[in-house]
Amino acid sequence: MSFGVRGKVFSLSLALMAVVGLSGGIYLERELTRLEQSELEHELVRHARSARASLRTLGSSPAPAALDEVADRLGEATGARITVITADGTVVGDSALSAAGLQHEENHRARPEVQAAMAGQEAVVPRYSTTLGKNLLYAAVPWPQGGGVVRAAMPLDAVQDVIDRQHLLLLLAAGVWIFVALLVSAIVAQLAGSVVGTLAADAHAVLTGKQRRMAVSSQDELGHLAGSVNELADERSQSVAALVKERDRSNAVLNGVSEGLIALDAHRSIEIVNPAAKKLLGLEGNPEGKRLVEVVRLPALIELVERGQEGAASAEFALGDPPRYLQATITPLRATGGSVLLLRDATEVRNMESMRRDLVANVSHELRTPVSIIRANAETLLDGGGLEDPVQARNFLQAMLRHAERLSNLLSDLLDLARIEGGAYPLALENIDLKQAAQRTTDTLQRTAKNKSVTLRIAIEPGLVAHADSQALDQVLVNLVDNAIKYSYEGGTVEVSAAPQNGQLRVTVSDDGPGIPERHRSRVFERFYRVDAGRSRSLGGTGLGLSIVKHLVGLMHGVVGLDPVDPHGSAFWLTLPRAQQTEARNTARSVA
Ligand code: ADP
Repeated sequence: MSFGVRGKVFSLSLALMAVVGLSGGIYLERELTRLEQSELEHELVRHARSARASLRTLGSSPAPAALDEVADRLGEATGARITVITADGTVVGDSALSAAGLQHEENHRARPEVQAAMAGQEAVVPRYSTTLGKNLLYAAVPWPQGGGVVRAAMPLDAVQDVIDRQHLLLLLAAGVWIFVALLVSAIVAQLAGSVVGTLAADAHAVLTGKQRRMAVSSQDELGHLAGSVNELADERSQSVAALVKERDRSNAVLNGVSEGLIALDAHRSIEIVNPAAKKLLGLEGNPEGKRLVEVVRLPALIELVERGQEGAASAEFALGDPPRYLQATITPLRATGGSVLLLRDATEVRNMESMRRDLVANVSHELRTPVSIIRANAETLLDGGGLEDPVQARNFLQAMLRHAERLSNLLSDLLDLARIEGGAYPLALENIDLKQAAQRTTDTLQRTAKNKSVTLRIAIEPGLVAHADSQALDQVLVNLVDNAIKYSYEGGTVEVSAAPQNGQLRVTVSDDGPGIPERHRSRVFERFYRVDAGRSRSLGGTGLGLSIVKHLVGLMHGVVGLDPVDPHGSAFWLTLPRAQQTEARNTARSVA
């Protein structure tokens, strides 16, 4: 670019100097030629006048030979041709002619310069001389004494010689001028090129961000240009800052939302894709700029995008194994011809719905048997079938009571679960001595254990204090110990133990009963899941106890689990946070 400016300034300067030089040269040449001619004309007039003055010395009627002699002498002295012409046009003296030549010289009255001088005017005329056969410049002055004309002439060749010499000089001057023009143009071009080059480099550095501002060193146009570039750079950095802020805000929103978003252009190429969309569709790397069909191999989704060109549309489809359900909505963007695809993980909603359906089915199933038995027994009694027989009537009524209790347990467990899941189970977390909590549980269930000859044991060191809710912990322990007694063999042993583990406390309720086969272990904490449904029901179980345990422990920031016991039995365990240090010490002291 700098060469460009240099080249342009150089050519312009050279052209300018050439035009000035050429027009000046032409003007000078013309002016010099004119001056030279005018000088020659004056010289000739002076020669003619001198000749006239010399003729005056010859007296009033000089002899023709004397006239010719004066002409010859003057002609020799001046180098001009001197001619003396009488009033009738006869040539009586001529420095270019011999005496004999004079005899044959034709009458000169018709010559234009002679005619003008005869009329009393001095005249200068360039014309062809028939006498000498070449171009001459003639100057004629009136000769009042002789009544004729004195004329001086010079060949135009002499004038041309002078002009030629001038041309030579002019050529020499032109050569010097060209040299000066080249030099000046080169200097001007170099100066302009370096100024513009520096300016351009600075502007480029400012506009590409390598330099913050341009130095404004003058108040001229270049200074204004630098100022304008600075203003432009300021405006640009403000715009860039605003754009960056806007982009960061949009990115924060796009990255923050859990819904997947994909913006497509008119050719279904991906313009924007947020992390949630990538995660939902399992996209790797950066799919932006690629066509959707190249990166997503889901015919249902591609078909939805195609449908979305006509108007907003939604669809739900399954992905992977186990299936995850995606809900997709496409909205066309009329302005750009593109569209926006919104993706939502509907798996949880689906699972919730199926859980709700399962719950309704399970509850109905659980209710049906006791309700039917109570109804059937009541109907039998009312029909009079058993009222007369007090033993049978008592059996009917006992069965009704048992099933009513089952119903009551079921309703109570369902209510507990609903309260826990609905967040309506207020917890008061405090420091609880685990040994005391275990003691309360075994006291509550002592009778039940005794009925089955099961021994209850506590193996907890004093001073183990958990941060938990007293009522919830009691409910958890009662459920676990009750299960252990229920599903143990007659004469078995159930033990409640506790120990610190990984900064927490782990409480275990173990029994030496039949245990739980491995394939059931991961599911026993699910609602209504039973290893042996018939046995559970006959023992008064609802299938909800362990689910309540899991939820309550979760509320207290712990987890539950199940391990087998060797050679047989189960060990249900739960973790709880340890109590805060100072409070724990106080509690321990009061216990001791
Ligand atoms: P349930 O009311 O039937 O006892 P739970 O949720 O308390 O319901 O227990 C779920 C199932 O887990 C029970 O039906 C039983 O089959 C099994 N189970 C629970 N505790 C024990 C245990 N200590 N030993 C063997 N099986 C157990």
